[in-house]
Amino acid sequence: MDLNFTPEEEAFRQEVRDFFKENLPDDIRDAVRDGKELTKDIMERYHAILNKKGWLATIWPKEFGGPGWGPVERHIFEEEGARAHAPRIVPFGLSMLGPVLQKFGSKEQQDYYLPRILNGDDWWCQGYSEPGAGSDLASLKTRAVRDGDEWVINGQKTWTTLGQHADWIFCLCRTDPDVKQQEGISFILVDMSTPGVEVRPIKLIEGGHEVNEVFFTDVRVPYGNLVGEENKGWTIAKYLLTHERTGIAGVGFSMQELEEVKALAQRVMRNGKPLSQDPLFAARIAQAEIDLEAMKITNLRMLFTAQKQGAPGPETSILKIKGTVINQEFKDLRRRALGPNAAPFPGSLADTNLDVAPQGNANNAARYFNNRKTSIFGGSNEIQRNILTKTMLGL
Ligand SMILES: Cc1cc2nc3c(=O)[nH]c(=O)nc-3n(C[C@H](O)[C@H](O)[C@H](O)COP(=O)(O)OP(=O)(O)OC[C@H]3O[C@@H](n4cnc5c(N)ncnc54)[C@H](O)[C@@H]3O)c2cc1C
Repeated sequence: MDLNFTPEEEAFRQEVRDFFKENLPDDIRDAVRDGKELTKDIMERYHAILNKKGWLATIWPKEFGGPGWGPVERHIFEEEGARAHAPRIVPFGLSMLGPVLQKFGSKEQQDYYLPRILNGDDWWCQGYSEPGAGSDLASLKTRAVRDGDEWVINGQKTWTTLGQHADWIFCLCRTDPDVKQQEGISFILVDMSTPGVEVRPIKLIEGGHEVNEVFFTDVRVPYGNLVGEENKGWTIAKYLLTHERTGIAGVGFSMQELEEVKALAQRVMRNGKPLSQDPLFAARIAQAEIDLEAMKITNLRMLFTAQKQGAPGPETSILKIKGTVINQEFKDLRRRALGPNAAPFPGSLADTNLDVAPQGNANNAARYFNNRKTSIFGGSNEIQRNILTKTMLGL
């Protein structure tokens, strides 16, 4: 198998690199590089820049307004985006609901919602998890009862990422409590401005507001907001999750982190020498780099296979596990390199303490703590290991 990129793919890489150089505004780049919490305005402006170029919905086919890329182009785009300090695309409408509507939605739903996702008219969030239904998602209890041509929804969702900005939420609801758990769930779209929807913030350990609880009290939505068939939402839920996992590996972002950690280790002095000459620290960087190289090759191998055979399968779980563990290791190495200077700075001080915590490192403790989430969300790494033992090892 040839793991080298073709001349066309290399030309595409140059095109993407030039695009970011010319079109990514400095304030967006700086916010990403310095690990600041990204505002809604930044995310919306970034999406609009990509949409203008036709590069926003990277996994959508051309017929729905995507660029028609294969997995290799998407990988190159992600790598170059990370190198340029571009934000990650907010995935809920683009990488989760979009593919679901394209496969399971009615023509009316596709015609209405998909262009609105591309144009940034609707911000979506994901209403899957509930207290008591995370890994064991099928035990969810939020109830949707049909009343004429409406659903009446009652229940609670939790960990709803960026739900405070959202116009719409896609929800898994129990629509038949008397059958096997997986067979009584439906996938329903809810306008967040409907009376009875309440969003409450969950404060994170680093002080950020990224996740929320969402409560539903007698929320009435049209019956037509059902996607696919009634009680067949579990199939849709699983389809969506395969898409959720692919993006989490973030190979390009880890490559960028490796470069930054190496540069930092050369700058930071310990016992009169650069930290990069400390044998224990150097060994940890070397091990992380070896792991990243191995993952890069595994990733490329899967990309080329997916390019030939269609969508990737359960192997995405390998990328999710390794990708998140490696990225957490880089965050830890950076935190250790900075020592006490990795402690949280208030935003204003972070900009003036460049001598103790060089640019891009002042918010390091916050980044380290926030990054703990990656091995939990999108299906925790323990659950990914269970999936692998069943589907690939046949245990
Ligand atoms: C920052 C963040 C953002 C999130 N955003 C969203 C969102 O936008 N929308 C949404 O719907 N959800 C979201 N989630 C929820 C996420 O998908 C769940 O947290 C995740 O599925 C784990 O569920 P849980 O938190 O209930 O943990 P639990 O299921 O209670 O698991 C606790 C621990 O037990 C382990 N465990 C559980 N069952 C098994 C098993 N069978 N075998 C081995 N180990 C097991 C888990 O791996 C974990 O370590 C988010 C979570 C986080 C942390």
